[in-house]
Amino acid sequence: MKGNLPDWAGWDQRHCWHPFTQHAEWAAGDHRPLVLVEGEGPWLVDAEGRRYFDGNSSIWTNLHGHRHPALDAAVRAQLARVAHTSFLGFANPRAAELSRRLVDFFPPGKLERVFFSDDGSTAMEVAVKMAIQYRQQSGQGERTGFLAFENAYHGDTMGASSLGGVTRFFERFKRFGFPVTRVACVEELRTLPESTVRCTAAVVIEPLIQGVNEMRLWPAGQLTELRAWCDANGVHLILDEVMTGFGRTGKMFACQHEEVVPDFLCLAKGLTGGYLPLAATMTTPRIFEAFLGGRDRTFYYGHSYTANQLGCAAALASLDVFEREKVLEGLPVKIGTMREGLAALAHPGVHEVRQCGMIAGVELRRNDGERFPERDRVGEKVCLAARDFGLLTRPIRDTVVLMPPLCSSVQELRDACRALRKAIAKACRD
Ligand code: PMP
Repeated sequence: MKGNLPDWAGWDQRHCWHPFTQHAEWAAGDHRPLVLVEGEGPWLVDAEGRRYFDGNSSIWTNLHGHRHPALDAAVRAQLARVAHTSFLGFANPRAAELSRRLVDFFPPGKLERVFFSDDGSTAMEVAVKMAIQYRQQSGQGERTGFLAFENAYHGDTMGASSLGGVTRFFERFKRFGFPVTRVACVEELRTLPESTVRCTAAVVIEPLIQGVNEMRLWPAGQLTELRAWCDANGVHLILDEVMTGFGRTGKMFACQHEEVVPDFLCLAKGLTGGYLPLAATMTTPRIFEAFLGGRDRTFYYGHSYTANQLGCAAALASLDVFEREKVLEGLPVKIGTMREGLAALAHPGVHEVRQCGMIAGVELRRNDGERFPERDRVGEKVCLAARDFGLLTRPIRDTVVLMPPLCSSVQELRDACRALRKAIAKACRD
């Protein structure tokens, strides 16, 4: 796409306000935002016609590629019927079918109810509010507390950010949210005073890997231990699979690696294959039944676009693609390719490569093993350099994320690792 283009970058710089962005820099003299106009498969195209590999799956959402024929067709077919109808007071075919399909991923009688919302943060809000109201309605009103892990990230709405533990994002809002008891690891739960445990409604965790905490993996078996601790102490387990859900870790859901079923499962990002904002909070019959009875037991929560028909149609098509293209079966080879490609980075600046399935973080440090000063912005520089080699991704501080769409070919994954190697060499030399 070239020629006489509208001044998208200029309008953006003058009028848009971007997430997690310092606009004094965004609008600074020589910075021109990259304007993305098209996509196909794991590739994105900017307004100048340059192609980039979508190395972070458009912020961890895309699974089967952009403009996947089946997803496009499903959204179009739904558009030909209706885009959106209220879920407040009405049912819709796509949401009904999607609920049934999601429930079928788990053993019978486990996660049988699906509450739809809009994004990862709202999926968490829903779980938190359900967890509190459940206790109130089952004679356990003293269980109001939440346990969360250090450096966790569960979203940016006020409730979700109360659960979060990444200082730079959450510190300034901490006193406006609800109090949360924070622990470093599962073992630490055992040292909590009985008075705290007795008053705890739920514990929340990103299973297998903490994303925003620079892609840090939990030890194997830890989820099983957490489930056992929750069961022994009458505490609900909320799993935030906003990042890990839908194949990213190599299985459909991260909790399936340890055959753990939570009391609340929060899904978003990949739910629609990365097409549309839609989220789901799944829960058990037992929790659902505590909301039955008089009107005062109702869960008074909802958003205008809850169970949006276009989003649900995209989600159903995405689940079909998983089956038809045997997506999960193809992942071990791709995960292995990423592992080999990242092992070959072999640059003194690469301190550690952390990988969980199709999710990887490459942490860059100084040669003496110390972190670079934050002001050096090494991670950002590497990602900027990566653009010159046709790779788009983002860092979390100095950890460069590689989380490609699941549809990426082995060759594309090799090339992405190669591009990252060149980018590290370039940025760490300059
Ligand atoms: N939980 C986790 C684990 C996440 O990684 C994110 C987003 N990065 C969220 C929740 C919040 O999701 P959203 O940005 O869709 O609100």
